[in-house]
Amino acid sequence: MKIAMVGAGYVGLVSGACFADFGHDVVCIDKDPAKIESLLAGIMPIYEPGLAELVATNVKAGRLSFSTDLASAIDGADAIFIAVGTPSRRGDGHADLSFVYEVAREVGAHLKTPAVIVTKSTVPVGTGDEVERIIAESGTKAQFAVVSNPEFLREGAAITDFKRPDRIVIGAEDEFGRQVMNEVYRPLFLNKAPILFTSRRSAELIKYAANAFLATKITFINEMADLCEKVGADVQDLARGIGLDNRIGAKFLHAGPGYGGSCFPKDTLALLKTAEDYDSPTRIVEAVVKVNDSRKRAMGRKVIETLEKHGDGSARGKRVAMLGLTFKPNTDDMRDSPAIAIAQTLIDAGTQVVAYDPEGMELARPLMPGVEMAGSPYEAIEGADAIALVTEWDAFRALDLKRVKQIARAPVLVDLRNVYEPAEMRAAGFVYVSVGRV
Ligand code: NAD
Repeated sequence: MKIAMVGAGYVGLVSGACFADFGHDVVCIDKDPAKIESLLAGIMPIYEPGLAELVATNVKAGRLSFSTDLASAIDGADAIFIAVGTPSRRGDGHADLSFVYEVAREVGAHLKTPAVIVTKSTVPVGTGDEVERIIAESGTKAQFAVVSNPEFLREGAAITDFKRPDRIVIGAEDEFGRQVMNEVYRPLFLNKAPILFTSRRSAELIKYAANAFLATKITFINEMADLCEKVGADVQDLARGIGLDNRIGAKFLHAGPGYGGSCFPKDTLALLKTAEDYDSPTRIVEAVVKVNDSRKRAMGRKVIETLEKHGDGSARGKRVAMLGLTFKPNTDDMRDSPAIAIAQTLIDAGTQVVAYDPEGMELARPLMPGVEMAGSPYEAIEGADAIALVTEWDAFRALDLKRVKQIARAPVLVDLRNVYEPAEMRAAGFVYVSVGRV
């Protein structure tokens, strides 16, 4: 099959490379010439484990190419995927669909051969109807169908998730759409990946409901962690105790500094907006958004309180080593990372923040102008009055604690990801504060 993938970001590039690996003929199109130039030179614009190798193999095999020219890339394509960004619109939190509609207009203006247009971007319910209208009104005479195929991959494990998905959701309104999508995903049926055909509106809403549910689970365990601290219980035991119940499930029950990233924050807000537009309030999601927003600064205050309690009573002028900046490990994505609010809270309290992240520092710099970036975890820790572990990168799981104690000004670790064991850390002479454990 011939596939055009419009938008070569985290989702477009991973999906395009995986489709090529299945044997399809894929062109990834992006309007950013620098991104396409770098891809043509074999340089990945993002950090995602295994991606560079997958891209190189498929480029070499002649199945994957890159272009800025949408008109020629969609010529003869069986499926045209839209995988452009849908960030929060400034002001009201609605999904900004301008990039999606821009692609729809361009596709409509240049489509000459029958094709299925597939929205892979996360888009509010009803967007498929609008994409269909725009394409029809843009002058094409070719047969086309508009299908919704939301993406559920996780950054950091994107290739495995794409190749071994829990499910594939396809929202199609006609047989042409269903039949082309069947062909596109046929290699995955052989792996027995469950495929769910729904209406287009159901598929669009499934994506938001899934993300809102996961955000709720995280927020729930975070509030339980706060309660554990107050009553002297252990949130990890609690998570295990409830997670072993199959109806609840063990995943997404890790207490921490609050969810961030390129999806949950914007998707929960967009769902609230849709619910408001349809006069069908989703109060649970409203609470989740509020609780999560306030949690990020609360985690900054947790570090400040620890400094005040274990130093000379003030956080002002103290140096904090921040380990981890990205919203989770194995990505360089800094979008809505809790680290941004945590660092700002620390800076507002008069501390000096020195950070290290294995992949995120380049994208973090412009977002965190008051934060000094270090060349290694130990460089950040040197002379620190407290260490805040913010992202659970493997590199921070086995710190040389003896060295840390020698080079830090004070052996104070605020572990916002519960990476270390409280008893072991105390035995090693650390003031150790974690989340939901006493
Ligand atoms: P991204 O910002 O990394 O990539 C989007 C790309 O689209 C950019 O390279 C941009 O230059 C390009 N683009 C924008 N307008 C264009 C146009 N008119 N023509 C060609 N290219 C254009 O975004 P992303 O993280 O890949 O997310 C894409 C969509 O997938 C979003 O709707 C997101 O919510 C959804 N999604 C993301 C993830 C994730 O983990 N990142 C997971 C599932 C779903």
